[in-house]
Amino acid sequence: MAQGATVSETPVRRTIQVTSPATGARLGEYPACDREAVAGAVARAREAQRTWAALGFAARARILRNVRDRFVDEKDRICDVVSGETGKPRHDVITNELLFLCDAIGFWAKRAEKYLADEPARPHLLKNKRVYVSYLPHGVVGIIGPWNFPFNLTIGEAIPALMAGNAVVIKPSEVTPGSAVLGAELARAAGLPENVLQVVTGYGETGQHLIELADMICFTGSVATGRKVAERCGQLLKPVTLELGGKDPMIVLRDADLERASSACVYGGLANAGQVCISVERVYVEAPIYDAFVEKVVEKVKQVRQGPPEAGVVEVGSMTFPPQIDKVERHVQDAVARGAKVLAGGKRRTDLPGLFFEPTVLVDVDHQMDVMRDETFGPVIPIMRVGDEEEAIRLANDSRYGLDASVWTRDLARGARVARRVQSGAVCVNDVMVNYAVTEVPMGGWKESGIGYRHGKGGIRKFCAQQSVVIDRFGMKSEINWWPMTAGKVKLFRRALDFFGSGWRRKLFGA
Ligand code: NAD
Repeated sequence: MAQGATVSETPVRRTIQVTSPATGARLGEYPACDREAVAGAVARAREAQRTWAALGFAARARILRNVRDRFVDEKDRICDVVSGETGKPRHDVITNELLFLCDAIGFWAKRAEKYLADEPARPHLLKNKRVYVSYLPHGVVGIIGPWNFPFNLTIGEAIPALMAGNAVVIKPSEVTPGSAVLGAELARAAGLPENVLQVVTGYGETGQHLIELADMICFTGSVATGRKVAERCGQLLKPVTLELGGKDPMIVLRDADLERASSACVYGGLANAGQVCISVERVYVEAPIYDAFVEKVVEKVKQVRQGPPEAGVVEVGSMTFPPQIDKVERHVQDAVARGAKVLAGGKRRTDLPGLFFEPTVLVDVDHQMDVMRDETFGPVIPIMRVGDEEEAIRLANDSRYGLDASVWTRDLARGARVARRVQSGAVCVNDVMVNYAVTEVPMGGWKESGIGYRHGKGGIRKFCAQQSVVIDRFGMKSEINWWPMTAGKVKLFRRALDFFGSGWRRKLFGA
C-alpha cells in the first residue's frame, strides 16, 4: 500500500478515529500527520515530480486512463469506503462521485495537451520578436478537501493537476480520510509512479503544514476555513484557489413546467442529504403558481425514502458530520421561531441510530431567517412566494454567496435574460446542479463562494505558472533603445511620442 505507506512511515502524534455516521460503527483509524510527515511527503513529491513532468502528456494520459480502469474495477470497494464514511447511498457514490470522476479523467487526458500548449502571440509593436506563453507545472500542488464528496473532491481535483505535470499531496477531511487514501492506493497499483500522488491524513493543522510547504494550494471547503487559507496564502504569496460554500437560489417563474421544476427542486434540495455546495438552498416562486408548486414539492418529498446505505435502495442517506446536523436543526428551529411553517419533515430521526434529518419543506420564510441567509447544507427546502421576476432576482442576489443558481421558465430567452442578472458563477436554466458535469466551462464562485474555479481551460491552467517567452528573431548587433543614446535617437523617440498625441494616428488608424 504505497500511498498508505506514505502516511504510516511518518511518526504518528495523534490519530483520527472514523465512524459510520449512518450506524455509528467504527470504521478505521488514520494518523494525524505532523509537520515533519507533511514535509517528508512534499519532499518525496518534489523529487517524483521531475520525472513525472518529463514523461509528457501522452504517457501521463495513458497512466491516468489505467487509473480510471482500476477505479471501475474496484467500484464496489470504493462504494464500501465512501458510503461507509459519509452515510450516503451506494448508488450516489456511483453516480455522483465515480461517474463524474471517470469521465473527468478521460476529459483531462484528452484535452490537457491542447489546453496547455504554448500559446503564440503576435506583438503589435515588436515585429522582430517571436512571442508565446508557456504553461509550466507549479511543482507540488497541495489539495485540501471537504467531506461531502470525499473521493471526487480529492482524487478528482488531483487529475488536472497531475495531467499538467505536477505531483500532488492531498489533505482530505478528517471526517472522511479513507476515500482519498484508497483512491491514491488504487492509483499507485494501476501504475501511477510512486510519490506522484500522496495523502497526508490529519486535522486542520495538517492542512496548515501543507499550505506552508506545497507550491500551490487548491482548497475546497467552508467560507470560514477558506478565509484562513486565503490569509495564509496571502502572507506567503502562494497561488491558491478557493471553492467555498453556496446558498443557491432556484427561481421558478409563472410559465415554468411545474412537474419538472418540482422534481428538480426535490432532487436539488435533498441529494446527498442536501450536503452539496450547489444544492438548491432556497426557492423563490412567482405568486400565481406558488400553491401548485408547493403542493407538488411536498407530495414528492413525502415519497422520498431515507435510511442507511444497507437499507436497500434509498434516495437520501444520513448526514455526514455531527456538527452539521446540529446546524440544520438550528436553522429549522430559527425559521419556525420566526414564523415559518413546516410542511414536511422538520426534525431529526430518532428511530435510526445515525445522523438522519427528515427531508424538510418550509414555507412562510423570509430573509430574516438563517435558513434563507446562511448555508444550511442539509435536507431542507425553504420556499418563498414572490410577486414577480424582479422580486425573485432581487432576493436571489440578496446573499453573500454566489456559487450556482437555477431559473425555471418555458421561455428560454427569458431564462437566459434572468440568468444574466443573477449574481453567481453558474446558472442552470430548467435544470439543477448539472453544470458540474459540463467540464468544458468554468465552475467557481462569486462573492464569498470562492476565488478561482475548476473545469474548462482555466481549470487546468490554474495548476501552472504562466511564462511569457519573447525571442529575438534576427540577432541584430543592437536595438534602438540600447546605449549609447544619441541626439538622433532622442529626436526619434520624441517624434514617436508626439505621434500618439497628434490626432493623425487616430485619423489614420482609428485608435
Ligand atoms: P471545512 O472548511 O471545515 O474543511 C475543509 C478542509 O479544510 C478539511 O480538510 C479541513 O481539515 C481543512 N482545514 C481546516 N482548517 C484548516 C486550516 N486552518 N488550514 C488548512 N486546512 C484546514 O469544510 P467541510 O466542512 O469539510 O466542507 C463543507 C463545506 O465545503 C461547505 O461549506 C460546502 O459548501 C463546501 N464545498 C464547496 C464546494 C465547491 O466546489 N465550492 C464543494 C464541496 C464542498
